[in-house]
Formats: sequence, C-alpha cells, structure tokens
Amino acid sequence: MPRTVDIGRVRNIGIMAHIDAGKTTTTERILFFAGVIHRMGEVHEGTAVMDYMEQERERGITITSAATTCFWRDYQINIIDTPGHVDFTAEVQRSLRVLDGAVALFDAVAGVEPQSETVWRQADEYNVPRIAYINKMDRMGADFKRVIEMMREQLAARPIALQMPIGSGDEFEGLIDIFRMKAFLFKDGQSGVETIEAEIPENLLKEASELRTELVEAAIENDDELMEQYLNGEEIGEDVLKSAIRQGVITNRFTAIFCGSSFKNKGVQLLLDAIVDYLPSPEDVGVIEGFDVEDESKVLKRMPLDDEPFSGLAFKILTDQFVGKLVFTRIYSGSLKSGDAVLNTISGKKERVNRLLKMHANRREEIQEAFAGDIVAIPGLRVTRTGDTLCDQKNPVIFEKIQFAEPVINQSIEARTLAEQDKLIEALIKLTEEDPTFRYRNDEESGQVIISGVGELHLEIIVDRLKREFGISTKAGKPQVAYRETITETVTHEETLERQVGAKTQFARVILELFPNERGKGFSFDNQTTAEIIPLQFVSAVEEGARESFGVGAVAGYPVIDVGVRLIGGSFDPANSNELAFKIASSLAIKEAIRKASPVVLEPAFKVEVTVPNDYLGDVVADLSSRRGKIEGISQRNILQVVTSTVPLSEMFGYVTQLRSITQGRGSYNMTFSHYEPAIVKASNGYF
Ligand code: GDP
Repeated sequence: MPRTVDIGRVRNIGIMAHIDAGKTTTTERILFFAGVIHRMGEVHEGTAVMDYMEQERERGITITSAATTCFWRDYQINIIDTPGHVDFTAEVQRSLRVLDGAVALFDAVAGVEPQSETVWRQADEYNVPRIAYINKMDRMGADFKRVIEMMREQLAARPIALQMPIGSGDEFEGLIDIFRMKAFLFKDGQSGVETIEAEIPENLLKEASELRTELVEAAIENDDELMEQYLNGEEIGEDVLKSAIRQGVITNRFTAIFCGSSFKNKGVQLLLDAIVDYLPSPEDVGVIEGFDVEDESKVLKRMPLDDEPFSGLAFKILTDQFVGKLVFTRIYSGSLKSGDAVLNTISGKKERVNRLLKMHANRREEIQEAFAGDIVAIPGLRVTRTGDTLCDQKNPVIFEKIQFAEPVINQSIEARTLAEQDKLIEALIKLTEEDPTFRYRNDEESGQVIISGVGELHLEIIVDRLKREFGISTKAGKPQVAYRETITETVTHEETLERQVGAKTQFARVILELFPNERGKGFSFDNQTTAEIIPLQFVSAVEEGARESFGVGAVAGYPVIDVGVRLIGGSFDPANSNELAFKIASSLAIKEAIRKASPVVLEPAFKVEVTVPNDYLGDVVADLSSRRGKIEGISQRNILQVVTSTVPLSEMFGYVTQLRSITQGRGSYNMTFSHYEPAIVKASNGYF
C-alpha cells in the first residue's frame, strides 16, 4: 500500500512550554480545529485529550511523551508531547530528539519563565527549529513586545514577528498578519472561532510596516539575488518571500513569532497555518546520522526515503489499558509493514512487528504500513526499551543512544496489604519499562521495596500512578539521597573455598585484584588467567559473583561503583569444582577485598546553574557556598549573571524556596546530575 501523505506534508512537532503557559489548552484547541475533538473540553473540567493520566489533569502538568496525529490543510501533524517539569528533562531531551520542529509557547503576562529557558537551551543544543506562540493575549497585563524583548535578552533568541496583536487583555480584538499585511478581526461572540479579514487599522500601520521591513530583511539577508532586488526597490513575490522565511526558520536563523489566546479560540487556526507553512518536514531535516553496530566511531547515514532500509528510534513506552505495552517509534528511513521482523540493535535481538497503530486523539487506527518520517505505536514488542534503535536486519544501525539521568533519590514503599505485594512488583516492572530513569529493587535486609528516580516529584508521581492506574495503595517512606560507595586503593585478595556439601566437597580458589576505576566508568572485569588455570565457564561464574557482591558496600551497605576487577590467578579441581563454588569464592573474595581497599561513601553532585540579576549575585554565591557548592564560573548573559556550580544533592533540598526569597523571585535555576564524589557529611542519618 503506498503512502497516503507525501513526506513533504508531514510535520512532527512538539510544544514546549512552562507549566501553566497553556500547552494543554493549545494542544486541545489544535486537535479541535483539526477536526478531531468534537466536543470541546476545558482543562479545568478535566477532559484534555493529550493528558494520558488522570493525575496530570489534576496537577495540570503533562508528563508523558505520547504522540497524537491530526490533519490540517492536507498536512499530517504529529504532536509529540514534551513534558514541562524540570524533573523530567530526560523526557524532554528524548522528545526533542525525535521531533523536527517545535512551537515554543509563552504566557503573554509571565513571558520567559525559568523552565522555558532550560528547554529552550536544550532545543538549541539539538538544533530544533522553532516558532514561538505568545498565548494568553486576553489576560490583563498581556504584553507582546515585552515577551519578545525577554526572548532576546534571556534566551539570546532572534525573534522576528510574523504577527502583532490588535489590543490586549479585554481589548484583544484581532491580529495583524505581517506577512500578508492584513488584519484579522475576531468575530464577537462566545467562541470567537471566526476571524474576519480586514485592513490594518490606521494607528497600527506604521508599526506593522516597520515589522514588515524587519521580516523581509531577515528573510532575504543570505540571498544575494533577492537582496539586490530588494535594494533596487523591486517587490519580492509572496511565494518567494514565504519560502525565504521558511528557510530562515528551518535553518534556525531566527524564530518566527505568532500570538493568540488559545482559551478564547483566538489565533489557533493561524498558528496551525504557521506550523504547516514554516516548520520543517522530515525531508527538510534530511540525513540522519547513526553509528555502525560494530564500530561506534563509524558514522552511517540514513535518508528520509521510503526505499531506504528501515530504521527507527523507540522513544516512548506506554502501557495502554486495552492494547498493553505500546512502543512509540519514529521512523527515520524506509518503511515498516505489519508482519515484518526487525532488529533491535541495542539488545541484539529480533523483534516481530505484528501490528502497527497510529494514535489519534480519540481513537487508535490500525495501519498496514508506515513510512519514513512517520510516528507509529507498535504493540507486542518483547525486548524493546526506550531509546533503542529498531532497523532492517540486514542493515543494522544505532542512533545516538539517549543518555538518561541517573536515579539519585531513593524511597522505600510497601503495599498496604500482603495481597497487593505481588501486584506491586508487577506494576513496578511495567513502570521501569516505560521510564528508563526509574528503577526499583528489593532490599534484602529490610524486606522493603526501594524505588529510585531523578527527583522528588518523579517518585511522588510514580506513587500516585501506582494508586490510580494500578489500584495499589502504598505506604512511602521519606525520599533519601541515593549514596554509593567505592574503593580508594588497589588490593589483592586470595580466597579458597573448600567445603563439604553432603557427600561432596566443593572447591574453588581465586586470586582477585581490585582497583579504583575512573569515576563514571562503572564495573569492569578482566580475566588474566588461562583456561588451564581456571576454565572459561568458571571465569563467568567469578564475574557474576563479583557483579552481585557490588550491590552492597562495606561502609554503609550502599551499592559499590567504579571498581575494576582483575582475575589474576587461582586453581580448580576437576572432581570437586563447579560454577557455584567459583561464584561463592568470588563473592567472598570481593567482600573481603572491598573492606581492605579503604572504601568511602560517595554522594551525587549536581551541576547547578543559577541565573540572577546583578544585584543578587553576591547573596546567591554566598548561599551556594554555604551549601558546599563549588563555584565554577560566573558569566554574563545579556543583562543577567549566570553562576555555574556543583553542589551535593543533599544540600539542594528546599532550594527553590530559598532562591526565591533571596532574589525576590527574580532568580531561576536548573540542575542536572554531574558525578558522584566522596561524601563529607551525610544529611539524614549521621556523619561519615
Ligand atoms: P499547561 O500547564 O501549559 O498545559 O497549561 P494549561 O493549558 O493547563 O493552562 C493553564 C491555565 O491557563 C488554565 O487554567 C487555562 O484555562 C489557562 N489558559 C490557557 N490558555 C489561556 C489563554 O489563552 N488565556 C487565558 N486567560 N487563560 C488561558
């Protein structure tokens, strides 16, 4: 079956916004105008379609990245949901990786808010072309020009207006389309859906003309021929100008600005036009680079063409109530038919694609084939996890593996009844499949289940989901920083296991060397013996025993990281040695060796970037220092100062409130995991 929508008519977009800027409302209106929603629901009534999970409606934040397909003017728009909370930046990065363009949404009163800054910078990093939509123009205090100014100053963006509002607040009556130099007046009445084309009001003509000049000059600045035409006073044709503007947006030379009031249905259709007109198609984005499976330094290219070998990236896993596990996949090249077998290059396993679904806001559509540039949901995959590459078996490729945040906060949870304990584990398994930054484990000593995540809110939401989606009430302990342990010296240890088990003797002897590995390198194992000394199947048992023993450290029982193990000697006895004996010997050896190698506790340190006006700089730096923060640099970003530092996570609890109070609400910050470092003081249960 051939494709129904030409690749040039596909838009894979995300909407990036600070919480409360109106992302849910805008998405809902987009889907409504695109003909999907037949009954318009308001967010506060809790019928927003993009929100997968009940709790999101209550909290008013959108956490998961799902994808919804809709149509506008013969174009297929796939909206990939990007989460808005700072705790979920891993999800934000993951969605930025698979979309081709984005709408950056701002509240016309609040302007550029801290989270918009963080996401904006990530979009810069991934080179995502953007248009901006200044929402809530109907609010008292809405200020279009101020938001543009803030974008320039705080985001170092180059905003170019393609619209300007006619009035604001209660008097937000229409828009001026700077490209066509026409006014669009909103028709009176409740819905405000209709817009009437009109001439630009006399009093705004001068300002509109100035913006038009700015637009034209920005659009053609790189095109000598057009520039010459323009300087000679010749008119530039509408189509030529439009494609020049499109080029400017796609190549990230500037950000085209639009505005409206989604809540009042004003400007949303024009925003849909802008998405189609100015944001790139997968074809515009062009070649996607991946790596060779055998050799990660070798770059492989994939073109967004249907007759290329199939390749795609699994970017989100969700458990659907009816269909079960769904793997949302972005197809970069080739096509995928239901019934195809594909290769998962991360796990090295084959997966069969039995069904393909396209997710619309209110229905699932079963499709037979999907093509380059599409986003599909695949049910029934066995091994695929978030971030994995799926591809043609004969043409393996790996797309850049997404780096996920380390889980640095632990919390103990218990099901309220014994009967629910098994259900709890089942639910936790599902949640780890969906979310690579979430982990759980059984703590053998306390018999508790420990969940780990990237932030306090992350775990709070997990506990909430357990209740709502899985019907399991749990008792949760206090969130704790996830400490680790490591060793600081190189030691050698010899261990001989010789014991009587029933009528048989078990024998194994190993000599292991333990040494500190570079921070972040994790566990490594190196066998320096020969098969005559220790046969290979016993070597694997030694490695397994070692790996398991690093789960519990010698100082306070935290997992041990960044240690290298060398198997340098030992012996076996053909009659009395087996794998179990070697595993136990290795395990005993490691425990003893760790104790001898001057173990220390490590704590997670975060890179904290604080942005403040100059007046508060001194106080902010002093406060960070009192939190054991190391100041790494202070730089100027437009009118603001940016302080970069690393601070132990345990010192960052309550920072939001503190920063707000020392800067009178003018400071903002973001933090990302940096590394583990030796702990000096442990906040919650004692000192080291
Ligand atoms: P999100 O957190 O970005 O998804 O924001 P929501 O769409 O949930 O909107 C947050 C609040 O702002 C809700 O109470 C909306 O009704 C309100 N809101 C959204 N868009 C507009 C708008 O254009 N004008 C006004 N006045 N309020 C809006």
